[in-house]
Amino acid sequence: MISVSSIFFGCRGTGIYESVEKADSLGFEGVELRQEHLPKNGVWKILKKTKADFPNIEFTIHAPLWSGSGINYLNPAMGLTGKNKKLLEDVFRGVQIVEAKVVLFHTGFTELLLFNHIAWVPRIHWPRLKMPRGIAKKGFGQFMESAVKIAGDIGTEVLVENPPPSKLDVLLNSKEDFATAFSDVKGLGLALDMSHSFARGELAELLTLRKKIREIHVAYSKEGEEDMHLPASMEHLQPLKKLPQLKELPIVLEHGREVSLDELIKEKAVVEKFLKSI
Ligand SMILES: [Zn+2]
Repeated sequence: MISVSSIFFGCRGTGIYESVEKADSLGFEGVELRQEHLPKNGVWKILKKTKADFPNIEFTIHAPLWSGSGINYLNPAMGLTGKNKKLLEDVFRGVQIVEAKVVLFHTGFTELLLFNHIAWVPRIHWPRLKMPRGIAKKGFGQFMESAVKIAGDIGTEVLVENPPPSKLDVLLNSKEDFATAFSDVKGLGLALDMSHSFARGELAELLTLRKKIREIHVAYSKEGEEDMHLPASMEHLQPLKKLPQLKELPIVLEHGREVSLDELIKEKAVVEKFLKSI
């Protein structure tokens, strides 16, 4: 299933409903919903109408979603705090409305931080308060176990996404860290972000996690450089051949303003051609 991340439209000022309408008209089979849309009021009503009017679109969700708390980048490593519980509640409210098959979270970090839209990750100021890694890991485990339990009751899968290069002390930083998390939290899977893994030079290594990979974010970055989410070429897609389940997964083209509509349409055609070739 070829999907598009709603960030592509949301970062250009397009609302949730209109973003899905546009994705549908471009021939995408799915949409990954994210928080970068306005207005934020009346979101549940808009989601219900969107789901009803686009019955053929399959939805996935990139957490968090439009929380009334104003937080739009959650840190699972802080565990089940009041704010994180509220964020979880909102995410799963959205999951149920659009019947999302998959919901994904970031890995979390040891810094005691939550973000709003203005304080985006690269703009964090030093010094920062940090948790001991052991506490952060415990918090992450509790948060994800709770998410997996709620998701299991409604037939959704919970995934954690591999991180981009970051100035933060990210909790899951290697294939081994992910493998440990997957054995600690049963049912947790991986959303493989190609752009993040290209930038960190770890795509081949993460692909060895195989069956745990339940969604792909398609985009490209140069190794050793910043995470850019540029269009992926046929060559960039080749390593995905190692995944026998590839055709069953949501394959989400994930780009912001750095990619034009024309480039997005071209990339979709490249991905279609690639899938036909395997
Ligand atoms: Zn991603």
